[in-house]
Amino acid sequence: MKKIVIIGGGIAGLTAAFYLKKQIKEENLPYEVNVIEASNRLGGKIKTERRDGFTMERGPDSFLIRKQSAERLVREVGLGDKLVTNGTGKSYILIGNELHSMPQGSFMGIPTQVKPFLLSDLFSIAGKLRAGMDFIRPKGMPQDDQSLGKFFRKRFGDELVENLIEPLLSGIYAGDIDDLSLMATFPNFYELEQKYGSIVRGLQKSMPKTKNTGKKRSMFYSLEGGLQTLVEALEQALGDEMIYKNTKVKSLEKINSNYQLSLSDGSIVNADAVMVATPFASMKQMLGSYDFIQKLGEMKATSVANVVLAFDQSAIKEDIDGTGFVVSRNSSNRITACTWTHKKWPETTVPEGKALLRCYVGRPGDEEVIHLSDDGLEELVLADLNKIMRIDGKPLFSVVTRWENAMPQYRVGHKQMVEKLEGDLMEHLPGVYVAGSPYKGIGIPDCIDQGEETVKKMLEFLAE
Ligand code: FAD
Repeated sequence: MKKIVIIGGGIAGLTAAFYLKKQIKEENLPYEVNVIEASNRLGGKIKTERRDGFTMERGPDSFLIRKQSAERLVREVGLGDKLVTNGTGKSYILIGNELHSMPQGSFMGIPTQVKPFLLSDLFSIAGKLRAGMDFIRPKGMPQDDQSLGKFFRKRFGDELVENLIEPLLSGIYAGDIDDLSLMATFPNFYELEQKYGSIVRGLQKSMPKTKNTGKKRSMFYSLEGGLQTLVEALEQALGDEMIYKNTKVKSLEKINSNYQLSLSDGSIVNADAVMVATPFASMKQMLGSYDFIQKLGEMKATSVANVVLAFDQSAIKEDIDGTGFVVSRNSSNRITACTWTHKKWPETTVPEGKALLRCYVGRPGDEEVIHLSDDGLEELVLADLNKIMRIDGKPLFSVVTRWENAMPQYRVGHKQMVEKLEGDLMEHLPGVYVAGSPYKGIGIPDCIDQGEETVKKMLEFLAE
């Protein structure tokens, strides 16, 4: 019997464990699988809090419908009937203390329809003219990589970047757009530029044509009971005998053709193949005795905090017609984004007559803010919210979650670094694979894709 060990019980590790178990059963393969998780629970960044009839996400609140692996996994574990789509109200950008509607037809902050863009109050006339240069500017010279900021500033100018693209993309990566890698995050924009000479023209030509019904379409799925429902279903499908919680892998070493894992309880586990699905820093620590790992650079990860505030609906005296906003850096606010959860997920998150607001704080240059006390964070968030809406008094309760070094930053050259790491692993530690948010995409579907891909690689390796 060969042994596969998965280190880290976040969504990447759980996906791999689930599909491995399935395939082992279907094909009657002589392998056993264990998941080793340092904390006392599975799910990693996916963490739902259920309280007094509210369903609150401490980490991610949804996943993109467009990337299909997450929906596939949800259906595989029998949760298809629990899928819910987001409510599609207006969304905004906060600049200064003023909310501006997101121009209709923007894709990741890139306008694809001329009229709503020209009518938008987000940009000055000069800013609009500069953005229009995308149609006439020659494409850039081919490059292995460049920063997202540099690329977009060159095509559209600073104003479009700062008032629209940057707040949206920072909302996803909690990063600095001028440091983030274009090729590791949105290589398709580079390809559109190279193919069509203009990103907007490229998007117009390549985006699937859908009938314009005037209605916005839902782009995200969540689950009844929150995303942790998926983690719970995976845990149940795997069974207790496969999972070790409260157990940290301290080191991993190759001994002849096998791997030896030293665990925090002092025991040793042997494995024939290993998936390391932990944050980057843990991976480096575990494999720290190897030269090629020591030579790897650091990967910064941004710290953010998520502050969820529950209210009686009547406490919100002056409301906004929409589902949320992101915050431009051209604003003195400390919050970086806010979701009106009761409007985005009205059926699954709040009891009748209640409201739920979910705000983020923490961005490069302002990460220390997450160390304020819970009361301090609640106060800060309320003060920012009250600049744009009117909320009476204190919340019924608040739930604060600090995520330290949690959002991996894919800096320029990231893809090359990952390729080099994978090549080195194949050469020096064959049968050891890294996967999850530090490598090939941070979204839940990206992590699920990596879990699936690792299953394929492991089974091929073990069959050799
Ligand atoms: P993790 O979830 O980080 O899991 C890694 C696991 O490894 C952890 O459980 C950890 O305890 C364990 N571990 C670490 N070291 C060891 C060790 N030495 N031994 C054993 N175990 C170890 N994505 C979306 O698609 N939509 C969203 O709305 C969204 N919002 C987000 C909001 C926040 C606040 C954050 C932080 C992320 C968000 N993301 C979102 C991103 C997404 O949630 C994560 O990228 C993804 O869940 C990470 O999964 P993972 O399996 O790679 O790692």
